[in-house]
Amino acid sequence: MPSTALVWIRNDLRIRDHAPLRYAADHHDQVVPVYCFDPRHFGTTMFDLPKMGAIRARFLRDCVEDLRDSLQDEGADLVVRRGRPEKVLPDLVRQTDASEVLQFQEIGTEEAEVEAAVEDALRDTDATPGFFWGKTLYHIDDIPFEEPSDIPSVYTNFRKAVEKKSQVRPTTEAPRSLPPLPEGVEAGSIPTLGDLGFEGDGTIDDRSVLPFRGGETRGLDRIDEYIWREDCLKKYKATRNGLLGANYSSKFSPWLAHGCITPRQIHEEVERYEDRRFDNKSTYWMKFELIWRDFFNYVAWKAGDRLFRPGGIIGNDIDWRDHDDSFERWATGTTGIPFVDANMRELNQTGYMSNRGRQNVASMLSQSLKLDWRMGAAYFESRLLDHDVGSNWGNWAYNSRVGNDPRARYFNIVKQAKRYDENGEYVRYWLPELGEVPDEYVHEPHRMSHEQQKLFNCVLGADYPKPMVNLDKTYERIRAERD
Ligand SMILES: Cc1cc2nc3c(=O)[nH]c(=O)nc-3n(C[C@H](O)[C@H](O)[C@H](O)COP(=O)(O)OP(=O)(O)OC[C@H]3O[C@@H](n4cnc5c(N)ncnc54)[C@H](O)[C@@H]3O)c2cc1C
Repeated sequence: MPSTALVWIRNDLRIRDHAPLRYAADHHDQVVPVYCFDPRHFGTTMFDLPKMGAIRARFLRDCVEDLRDSLQDEGADLVVRRGRPEKVLPDLVRQTDASEVLQFQEIGTEEAEVEAAVEDALRDTDATPGFFWGKTLYHIDDIPFEEPSDIPSVYTNFRKAVEKKSQVRPTTEAPRSLPPLPEGVEAGSIPTLGDLGFEGDGTIDDRSVLPFRGGETRGLDRIDEYIWREDCLKKYKATRNGLLGANYSSKFSPWLAHGCITPRQIHEEVERYEDRRFDNKSTYWMKFELIWRDFFNYVAWKAGDRLFRPGGIIGNDIDWRDHDDSFERWATGTTGIPFVDANMRELNQTGYMSNRGRQNVASMLSQSLKLDWRMGAAYFESRLLDHDVGSNWGNWAYNSRVGNDPRARYFNIVKQAKRYDENGEYVRYWLPELGEVPDEYVHEPHRMSHEQQKLFNCVLGADYPKPMVNLDKTYERIRAERD
């Protein structure tokens, strides 16, 4: 009898650098790659927010479609099902007489619960689960920390330790060949966004930094474009705090989050670039940022469900304000603070926001408005194309004094706006109502007299909101709480 393995695909929507797929192809006669559209991914989160918005659902669908195309090019196929993996996978095991269910291990607590449910359900079958690690740059078996509790709480300590003591493993080669699906196994159709309960079609606004479409093909093309064709890596460190355009930063994150590309592939490409073109602070900085990603993932692994509590990882007892209409104003980009509003509108309309923007809007929500930081994180989870549990919840916690470091960390948003968007080009791009407002007032339109507001076609309260809060007063309060 031929031996069969199922490969359960989750946030690893690719065929290259995919150890479970490679292992299955090397050790089994029949390989059944499976993707489940799990209804839990399309439900709501603790604040009644959709877990996934239409923009990310569209990107995810693209990824699944692209993976199916790549597998079909190899003569194989992707089995697609709608349902809970703990039901779908055992059914497929019985149908195909599979002896193994291979998968990458995930980090978040919900992901771990599903993994456990699958493991449990497989006990009633003849198949055993097989786990691989593929999420991070540094393999979990190579990091120099024995126990999760040994993972440093401070980034620099983590980075120095892995840089000194760990090696990045080479990428896994794609399977040499893949067999067709076993007879009788239906590939199944990929659900439309309508089937998944979405009303919109998830189209991204034309003003987006990139016309993000999901899939390994496009992810690899973006690596090639950013590093080689546009030659952006050599100046990445200087440009990475930008706000407008495709190339101030790599925009690798949506493809990384869905596992269309891996940090190791990027690392290899950076080293190839360093050999062939330049080796400078900028090329190193890309690795440095990928280590931040590892840090937040390993911290999430260490923190478990503490990461999702009001007091966060350290249990900081902050008296968060209750949910009121200020959350809606923050979320819809109508706070009356242009830098916050422009960033939130970019997020809402494209699924992307720069790192600089994310830090500032997070500071606005959890520090200036003192709203429960988890509402911000849950909103980002719903809207971001690149949502990744460790990176999102870890960064939110870090910026909200509930990460590993309780120091009052807040951004002076207007100062930041003037520094990173000196002439107001970014805020005008997303807030056309500020189009005629002179540079001097563009980040603080409330400083204009009523006559000026009329003159520049931006009357506060009519064309653009009055600021919902006096930011300077909030900074005074934060400083007082700190002292
Ligand atoms: C409140 C908040 C929430 C965030 N949520 C997410 C998230 O859900 N998913 C996500 O991938 N990133 C998140 N980030 C980190 C960072 O903003 C994005 O990774 C980055 O903006 C993505 O754009 P890029 O790929 O062009 O980044 P680049 O500057 O080109 O960086 C290259 C890669 O390094 C990694 N990286 C860079 N900065 C960070 C960081 N601070 N933390 C973790 N990884 C980093 C990312 O994988 C990124 O793709 C968040 C940051 C903040 C402040």
